[in-house]
Amino acid sequence: MNMKTQLENKLMKSIKESSDQEIYIALLNLVKEKAEEKVHETGKKKIYYISAEFLIGKLLSNNLINLKLYDEVKAVLEAEGHSLAEIEEIELEPSLGNGGLGRLAACFLDSIATLGLNGDGIGLNYHFGLFKQVFENNLQKETPNPWITENSWLTKTDITYPVSFGGFNVQSRMYDIAVTGYGNHTTKLHLFDIESADESLVGNTIDFDKDAIQKNLTLFLYPDDSDDKGRLLRVYQQYFMVSNAARLIIEEAVKKGSNLHNLSDYAAIQINDTHPSMVIPELIRQLCEKGLLMEEAIEITSKVCAYTNHTILAEALEKWPVSFLEKAVPQLMPIIRELDNRIRRKVKDESTYIIKDDRVHMAHMDIHYGYSVNGVAYLHTEILKNTELNNFYKLYPQKFNNKTNGITFRRWLMLCNPELSTLITELIGDSWKTDAANLEKLLVYKDDEKVLEKLLTVKNGKKKDLMEYLKKTQNLEINPDSIFDIQVKRLHEYKRQQLNILYVIDKYFEVKEGKKPATPITVFFGAKAAPAYIIAKDIIHLILCVQKIIAADPEVSPYLNVVMVENYNVTLAEKLIPACNISEQISLASKEASGTGNMKFMLNGAVTLGTMDGANVEISELVGAGNIYAFGESSDTVIARYEKGNYKACEYYKSNARIKQAVDFIVSDKVMKVGDKTSLNRLYNELINKDWFMTFPDFEYYRTTRNKAYADYADEKAWARKMLVNISKAGFFSSDRTIAQYNKDIWKL
Ligand SMILES: *Cc1c(COP(=O)(O)O)cnc(C)c1O
Repeated sequence: MNMKTQLENKLMKSIKESSDQEIYIALLNLVKEKAEEKVHETGKKKIYYISAEFLIGKLLSNNLINLKLYDEVKAVLEAEGHSLAEIEEIELEPSLGNGGLGRLAACFLDSIATLGLNGDGIGLNYHFGLFKQVFENNLQKETPNPWITENSWLTKTDITYPVSFGGFNVQSRMYDIAVTGYGNHTTKLHLFDIESADESLVGNTIDFDKDAIQKNLTLFLYPDDSDDKGRLLRVYQQYFMVSNAARLIIEEAVKKGSNLHNLSDYAAIQINDTHPSMVIPELIRQLCEKGLLMEEAIEITSKVCAYTNHTILAEALEKWPVSFLEKAVPQLMPIIRELDNRIRRKVKDESTYIIKDDRVHMAHMDIHYGYSVNGVAYLHTEILKNTELNNFYKLYPQKFNNKTNGITFRRWLMLCNPELSTLITELIGDSWKTDAANLEKLLVYKDDEKVLEKLLTVKNGKKKDLMEYLKKTQNLEINPDSIFDIQVKRLHEYKRQQLNILYVIDKYFEVKEGKKPATPITVFFGAKAAPAYIIAKDIIHLILCVQKIIAADPEVSPYLNVVMVENYNVTLAEKLIPACNISEQISLASKEASGTGNMKFMLNGAVTLGTMDGANVEISELVGAGNIYAFGESSDTVIARYEKGNYKACEYYKSNARIKQAVDFIVSDKVMKVGDKTSLNRLYNELINKDWFMTFPDFEYYRTTRNKAYADYADEKAWARKMLVNISKAGFFSSDRTIAQYNKDIWKL
């Protein structure tokens, strides 16, 4: 049956007579059926990727591409007077993640399916997701982000489990989202929910009754954790996620013939950061419930669970108060105590104990009782081994391994940049779609002027597309002939959006003094700040104020503009990344574990301006010094300065006139007039007195390197060559490579 007939059978009328909304629903249902028909791997051993976040993005076009139906559907719709691009706009982006960690989980599921591995994701079905960011008075405001509509990608299953908490029980329900691989395989994302969720607890804000756990458990991802009630709710969520996961895993293994003594022949669990760590004691508990002895249950669990570390930021390594666990999940505490006691009997180094100062150190439990500990980029893993987790490395050197992150090229090239995909395929064929290393074949065109010109044409087209999209959706005006310099990622001081905006302020003064850049510049920001992260919100405020001041200044705005996009998410990333000329990856060296945004930009022909941090180090090695703009102090220098504890921001502020001028601008009359005095003063004081993430020591090097990049941009051919080298070396960062390595070294399916 041809596509037109299939669609019209679903619509029960002609495509011509149908609305976009009706076509969207018909396509959704058609895709769900097609995904169901694909091969589901059923091998003996299965990997369960447990994660508090899956930032999956919209699914319609992604699934059509992976099912190899995209071109056909697009053509049929066009012939009948409809546009697939407009139908895409109807879909709401599932709001099941927050940033890189959640997006990584989504890329991994795509690659697990594409490689035909037997593996599923397990997470939670948050009704309102993270939050939707809106700007009001140059401030971030958080509103709920409902995404579950009557017809959604979720499929209700008949799997339900009782889950016990201290003093009450809830009934769970599993929902599935099909994960299509590129080609013949699909797998599943299992999202657990409570039957008793009550959306009416939520109004126009993200505040809600945090006591009513039976009603609120799955309403939000990362409920505001600035108070104990919010923190406690996270513990309830985490236990709910892993208790369901453990039941499902045991049930599936038993169904396939496991006697549980051999569970590790049937299951591997990847613990994505510490949020799912309670799966360790919970799996032990459930195995004991099934009649195993504690000793053996611990041993089995240790052969099943593997842990991925995503950060060395102390505040992100979860340490729950014992009192929280006693209240929420009293059944786990005796097991966690037993796990801790066993370590205390065996290990002298107290710093590795699980329970210390009345807190449960989740990562410590993962490392002692998991069989693998991996970092997410070469540098990050080295820092874990040599510094951050050195005490553990000395105990278990064989457990530590590196798995440099990756991204799926289906979404981050084929879907978001079909023009570039087509050009690449014209030049080297389409084997790169399943074997990304083949992108290196592009290198033979390094000096081919026609090819370089085509590359620039594609880039300029994507810049125009972005301009039109932001005009239509956010009423922003952008000069498409300017340099698109982009920093989009969560707002965090370590990512140093503040360094970027200080540069912009410095540039503003230069232009005011008559020093105009050769090519106009547009500096894009996109970032959500955690609702309780005050300084992060102050940085957003400053960016929005500077945006407004420059836009209103006819002396400056023809040469320099700031654009902060609202509600940065996967959908926006797919528009911004293909349009980027310069990719800002400027975290303080040692602090960004890997980054994956950096990889998406590189793949789409942006040139990186970055510190030697996370995967930037590997990008730099791959493309060579002439094809990246590297700056900043090394991770060794930074780590040593933290150890000495002698960094004094005010000394840089006093001795460097440019830094002083830029920082003083924050509290100048000009900014104070459009901004909030409390917020601006707070940020100013934070910078001159603390600057915990050391923006000032890197400022001069950053400034001169960025200026050099802007100057180089004027030589179009040389710039296009840098773009080409970046694209051709991006193959290493395919998540297919990452997942193949996880499987070979850790899961062994
Ligand atoms: C890739 C991605 C991220 C991660 O970006 P980093 O620069 O690695 O922090 C965050 N949010 C979205 C929407 C993404 O697509």
